[in-house]
Amino acid sequence: MNVFVLNCGSSSVKFQIINTDLDMFETDSDRRVAKGLIERVGKDDAIVNLEAEGQEPVKSVEPIHDHREAILRIKKWMEDPGTKIEGIHSWDDIHAIGHRVVHGGEKFTKSVKIDKEVLAQIEECADLAPLHNPANLKGIYACYEIFGDKIPQVAVFDTAFHSTMPEEAYLYAIPMEYYEKYRIRRYGFHGTSHRYVAYRYRKLVGKPREEVNVITLHLGNGCSACAIKNGQSINTTMGMTPLEGLIMGTRSGDIDAAIVEYMFNKGIGSVADIFNILNKKSGMLGISGLSNDMRDIEKAAAEGQHRAQLALKMFALRVKKYIGAYMAEMNGTDAIIFTAGIGENSVLIRKMICEGLENLGIELDEKLNKQAVRGKCMKISKETSKVAVYVIPTNEELLLARDTVRVVKDAPRMW
Ligand code: ADP
Repeated sequence: MNVFVLNCGSSSVKFQIINTDLDMFETDSDRRVAKGLIERVGKDDAIVNLEAEGQEPVKSVEPIHDHREAILRIKKWMEDPGTKIEGIHSWDDIHAIGHRVVHGGEKFTKSVKIDKEVLAQIEECADLAPLHNPANLKGIYACYEIFGDKIPQVAVFDTAFHSTMPEEAYLYAIPMEYYEKYRIRRYGFHGTSHRYVAYRYRKLVGKPREEVNVITLHLGNGCSACAIKNGQSINTTMGMTPLEGLIMGTRSGDIDAAIVEYMFNKGIGSVADIFNILNKKSGMLGISGLSNDMRDIEKAAAEGQHRAQLALKMFALRVKKYIGAYMAEMNGTDAIIFTAGIGENSVLIRKMICEGLENLGIELDEKLNKQAVRGKCMKISKETSKVAVYVIPTNEELLLARDTVRVVKDAPRMW
């Protein structure tokens, strides 16, 4: 099957076309045949970047006013005789569409086929994720408008994997009525990534799912850790929104909630302004005063800039704190898995996080740590390390494509 995997942000449309099917999962013979990104959707100077595998990318700047126009632009490119995507000549060669949906609330515990009822329920969840779900929905509506019911559409939720968290982990210690009335609780995000790397680990070590006990660290622009016990997410660092937990590129992660009132009383801005600061101006950017990009911060730290060095130390300390917390919660762990942009690339951050955890049985092999290269699974702990440490590249799009196939064909989930 050719699956069109779509990830719509408020002003961006990201896609991949992946050729995959049930019998290809075991052999990993799925193939990405095209990918692309349209940014600045809604503007007259949207940036279009489209690439068929093995071909020169098509780049242009042109007016694209909404998500529907963006998808039509991709369609036009796909159907252009000059574009050579293996196995695809027109939209008729697309067999299903898989949408990334950030928030599935309590309703969605796995990926589902989209119909009117599902759409209404995703709309309901938009209240919980006003920054993300409306954009995801725009993509779904645009596909409906263009393709009608002809192509099955599937929603894959970032929250679904964490639906196994027990209530003592997902509830906040605030009056219960607010959970009961408004569903205020922790949901967790990045579920597709945590699930994918845990699956890769399981394949690597040849264990059944029920025996997977690991801590996964998704360290990218957004960062979260997940405690996976007996193959299920039992806790994760992000909460009701992606603001909670680890320090991220521009998000503060955990802070004392009373700070918000204090900032408000100091006249820093409205509540919305303050949350904008916590979401967009804090984290590594706020501490370093330089950048949200870990590469820039590492460079500045190496040049001796104190705030960059401090940002790195704070980032690593927060991750360590959760490794300790989750090891206590799980009574130990078999492995720690690093993934996403920072986790897969930063030798320094992996070292800083693992340093001084020898008494917890975590011993990083410095040489192997340096050898890890992006795109490859690799064990980077010493032979003597009680807890194994791995770098496992994430591939959320692939999992989206595979889930889409499974849902369309009514096949069991791999996780
Ligand atoms: P997203 O979470 O948006 O999917 P990524 O997983 O691609 O993003 O992660 C982006 C982050 O990865 C950025 O902060 C970037 O600085 C970081 N990153 C990418 N390459 C490196 C590298 N070589 N060293 C350190 N950090 C890196």
